[in-house]
Amino acid sequence: MTTMTDILIIGQGLAGTHLAYQALNQNKSILIIDNKHHHSSSLIAGGLINPIKGKRLVPLWKEHEELEKALYYYKYIESIIEIKIIRSIQQVRKLQTKETLNYYSKKKNLAPYTPYLNKEENHHHYPELKNTPQPLIKVDHSYQVDTHTLLKNSQRYFQEKKILINESFHHDKLTISDSHIEYNDIKARNIIFCEGHQATQNPLWKNLNWENAKGNVLTFQTKYLKNNFYNLGKWIAPTPDKQFKCGSTTEWDWRSSLCSKENYDTLTEFLSTTLSQKYTVTAINSGIRPILKDRTPIATHHPDHKNVWILNGLGSHGCFLAPLISEKLLKKL
Ligand SMILES: Cc1cc2nc3c(=O)[nH]c(=O)nc-3n(C[C@H](O)[C@H](O)[C@H](O)COP(=O)(O)OP(=O)(O)OC[C@H]3O[C@@H](n4cnc5c(N)ncnc54)[C@H](O)[C@@H]3O)c2cc1C
Repeated sequence: MTTMTDILIIGQGLAGTHLAYQALNQNKSILIIDNKHHHSSSLIAGGLINPIKGKRLVPLWKEHEELEKALYYYKYIESIIEIKIIRSIQQVRKLQTKETLNYYSKKKNLAPYTPYLNKEENHHHYPELKNTPQPLIKVDHSYQVDTHTLLKNSQRYFQEKKILINESFHHDKLTISDSHIEYNDIKARNIIFCEGHQATQNPLWKNLNWENAKGNVLTFQTKYLKNNFYNLGKWIAPTPDKQFKCGSTTEWDWRSSLCSKENYDTLTEFLSTTLSQKYTVTAINSGIRPILKDRTPIATHHPDHKNVWILNGLGSHGCFLAPLISEKLLKKL
């Protein structure tokens, strides 16, 4: 007789991975189906958690405790797989426009911003960058997740526990009843879809209003940069194999998986006008940020099926949001 599993998770990107660890920690039985991270945007991501986002310098979280909670979940995973996956990183931000400079002048001494926004920096401290009139500041409490190490080591961990099936999930083979779902020889009380942008192929969620955006990231080598997160209109951040990533561009035509020449040129031009020393491009990768039209992440059940769930829409902040939204969803289950 097939045993009943508590949760079947589809997708092992940032969303499915966090969800799986938290469910296991709550002693739930789980199975995961993932097609070997095919087109996973989590693998392309810069892995950055930036506390102050956008031109208007808006805080990423309502309360600093949300960051503490996200960090707690990363540390928890580190303790299980015994590999470092998150680190604090110094952010150097250019105040790119007059508008941003105005926001900075208004906000820098206000209580919610003082832990993050620092005084203007001297350009001479950054000889690796070409000098420009726009001021540079340091932004504290920035982090970088090594998403590749997180996903690949979690894949290994879940395989060893015999709870990961590496294959594509075929939606037409799913049957749903009030008490459980069935898929091949799997029976589960709940199914949670964490398919990232590939959820657009899922007939159960065809009514969701997607506005996904493709992003392109260059990987390059240089001897001259420090291990900073340079936020200079585009971002530059180190990779674990001692290279750097530079991203990203936004293309609304996300159905083609290749980087256009125009976008490639935008990134190389950015590097040439920003870096004072030479660099060599080693790779270009494209990924798709899963975004819903209202820009809010989604963690809910299907309108017609209380045991069919979705965790998605993490947009450009998957590293910060995935642990928090997973917690939220599991509380509803
Ligand atoms: C260029 C770029 C840069 C980014 N940089 C950052 C950053 O610096 N910081 C940040 O926080 N966020 C960043 N993001 C956003 C971040 O990558 C996403 O929010 C996050 O990766 C979404 O995770 P996910 O688990 O929802 O989706 P995914 O990572 O796409 O994972 C979905 C998983 O489901 C699997 N899957 C899908 N369908 C099926 C199926 N039918 N059967 C089996 N398996 C299936 C896929 O193989 C994949 O493994 C960036 C995104 C892009 C594109």
